[in-house]
Amino acid sequence: MEKPVLYIVVPCYNEEKVLPITSKLFLKKLKQLIADKTIAEGSRILFVNDGSKDTTWEIIQGLAKSDSHYQGICLSRNRGHQNALLAGLIESKDLCDITISIDCDGQDDVNAMDEMVKAYLNGADIVYGVRNNRDTDTKFKKLTAEMFYKVMIKLGVETVYNCADYRLVSSRVLTEFVKYEEVNLFLRGMFPLIGFNSTCIYYKREERIAGTSHYPFRKMMGLAINGITSLSVKPIRWITYIGGASLVLSIWGIIWAMWNAILNKTVSGWASIICIVCFMAGIQMVSLGIIGEYIGKIYLEVKRRPRYCIQEYTYK
Ligand code: UDP
Ligand code: MG
Repeated sequence: MEKPVLYIVVPCYNEEKVLPITSKLFLKKLKQLIADKTIAEGSRILFVNDGSKDTTWEIIQGLAKSDSHYQGICLSRNRGHQNALLAGLIESKDLCDITISIDCDGQDDVNAMDEMVKAYLNGADIVYGVRNNRDTDTKFKKLTAEMFYKVMIKLGVETVYNCADYRLVSSRVLTEFVKYEEVNLFLRGMFPLIGFNSTCIYYKREERIAGTSHYPFRKMMGLAINGITSLSVKPIRWITYIGGASLVLSIWGIIWAMWNAILNKTVSGWASIICIVCFMAGIQMVSLGIIGEYIGKIYLEVKRRPRYCIQEYTYK
């Protein structure tokens, strides 16, 4: 088999503090893989500048001038991690045989790439990088993240437990992937849908080298809700179940009310009415909210807006 061309796809948003450090690590790894004759000389590191407000793009342009293995694309504005990654994957699809997506903050161990490429050469089309522990996370992040993966599994969404977006994907898979035209992206849940041979490799996730996380609790919740509503309709089904259960209860309520009316005991009962009204109003508002969440999704999907716009390339 001919040596594969590898593209390392790296989304970057306001990363001027880490980029000078991690770009060197990526290049070292790429050159080592080329020297080992594992991958082809034409392999590249593709940075996606996601509308950074600092000097990230200037740094990327400088890197591209300094070494031909570095390349960059600049999105027209900030679109978020998932869209930036998507842009990088789609842009590199026709230029390479395999892509590896990785964050640029040095949290994901580049040394896992050797094993990823080896797994590809052994026949896997998708190789998930799975972190083997969460020691470097805060207790809160650990708890919420693990809960999230468990909820996803309960909801019937196939995701690889504890796998973020450190992943090898072959261009064969990407060709199928571009047919998934949704604008609400949750990439780690979409790749398992595509199929093909896949495997996992394990690595230790470190702390961010510098800078701060772009995923505070609010954004993490957003990603989680998007992941669930993009890939599962079970929450709507649950509304039906809750509706069914409250219907059964209300039949009992009607019988009870009529019985009391017959016995002329209907004056008391203020508290029970208030309780029922409040309870039902709560359930109905939550149900409306869940349905609204899906309607919002449909609204965004039918508009078919482009998922990213590229303003500049370092190589075109
Ligand atoms: N990122 C991006 N666009 C954004 C937010 C983040 O491209 O709007 C990139 C960021 O530069 C990093 C990756 O996505 O390479 C993951 O972000 P971060 O490290 O902040 O998330 P965490 O690891 O804390 O979950
Ligand atoms: Mg990070």
